Amino acid sequence: MDKIVALCKRRGFIYPGSEIYGGLANSWDYGPLGVELKNNIKQAWWKRFVHLREDIVGIDAALIMNPKVWEASGHVANFQDPLVECKKCHERFRADHIKNGICPNCGTKDSFTSEQMFNLMFKTFIGPAEESSNIAYFRPETAQAMFVDFKSVCDTNRMRLPFGIAQIGKAFRNEITPGNFIFRTREFEQMEIEYFISPPKNNSDWQGFFELWRKEILNWIKDDLGVDMNKIHEHEIEAGERAHYSKRTIDFEYDFPFGCSELYGLAYRTDFDLKNHEKFSGQNLKYKDPETGEEFIPHVIEPTWGVDRSVLVALLDAYSEKEGRVVLKLQPKLAPYKAAIFPLLANKPELIKLAHKVYLDLKQNLTIAWDDRGNIGKRYASQDEIGTPFCITVDFQSLEDSTVTVRDRDTTEQDRVKIADLMKYLTERI
Ligand code: ATP
Repeated sequence: MDKIVALCKRRGFIYPGSEIYGGLANSWDYGPLGVELKNNIKQAWWKRFVHLREDIVGIDAALIMNPKVWEASGHVANFQDPLVECKKCHERFRADHIKNGICPNCGTKDSFTSEQMFNLMFKTFIGPAEESSNIAYFRPETAQAMFVDFKSVCDTNRMRLPFGIAQIGKAFRNEITPGNFIFRTREFEQMEIEYFISPPKNNSDWQGFFELWRKEILNWIKDDLGVDMNKIHEHEIEAGERAHYSKRTIDFEYDFPFGCSELYGLAYRTDFDLKNHEKFSGQNLKYKDPETGEEFIPHVIEPTWGVDRSVLVALLDAYSEKEGRVVLKLQPKLAPYKAAIFPLLANKPELIKLAHKVYLDLKQNLTIAWDDRGNIGKRYASQDEIGTPFCITVDFQSLEDSTVTVRDRDTTEQDRVKIADLMKYLTERI
């Protein structure tokens, strides 16, 4: 983890938040390379689950919703973690994160206060008066918007069951023990789908959809995030441990350097949310079957992905060292830069001119880096460290025959490619 954190800071993936003011504990800013990696992950997800499917549409809802949403969803009453304080060092912890009664900060055994429940939602006030009637919450999950907007989406898009509503966006949780870099923060992004199905007549009805989404999550991890599947473990959550709305939950865990921990989740939320929103809002949120005219509240399967945990896993899994140098073997489609352009010599105007033209042409469709400093070996090393899959050198031969050398990050093999064919060559391999 230390190596990843240092690399992220050194190369502009992720910096400590508000650093010039001494930082703000557990807040992180994505720098120029980090935002590209994060956006590539979000775009790959949106393409896979919204654009390539006929049964899922997207929304982008407000972060601050009517506070009644959180009463209906059960978050005001139930979204809480047990908090304990070490009587010796006065640090506070989540009681379920304490192992063998030992304080993770000072090592004292069995010196905790009794558990107090702590609600994780961030409160704020709407308007100038800080009165209880003006309390609002920053959303602790993106999911509720899909329930609140369910009827509008049904009406405006004529969706037919089974169908899903997807959203990517920020969520806020006043975590008792944030930490492990971007693994657990108080402000993070989620990619979520609420997949609505007809009320199941028997268990196998919903279990079939649950199984489909289980496979979809695994396929995403393998094909899009491109990580080592031996490091992924499915953890069936027992009844007593599940969130208040869930009838079945699987956590998809990854072998992080600090231990095996949750990456993504899959839950069967039943009709809990829509039913409660119907009750609290007084609105009819039933789905009307266009064939039979029958009205009912659909049930829901919810696959959920943390964006920041995806970034962390992509980085951890791609990290490798070769002869003391870092090579970040990111999936080419996730890499911040798809290629880097090197003019062989920085002081030859005709070389620079041609290289710059190649750079600008490719930049129309791909993210491309430019590097004219130091020798080519150093430039390769610098691009390997940030995961650029292809390095393109423009040399004297290029001036004569309009070809360039393309070097592959992972094999280090080189191809001589016509400048006119470069775009095709790169896109095929990305
Ligand atoms: P945990 O058990 O780690 O607290 P959770 O079960 O509360 O997580 P969910 O409510 O299922 O998490 O949230 C869905 C996803 O959002 C998680 O799988 C994770 O990827 C991400 N996530 C949740 N909390 C955080 C956080 N504090 N920081 C970063 N990502 C988070």
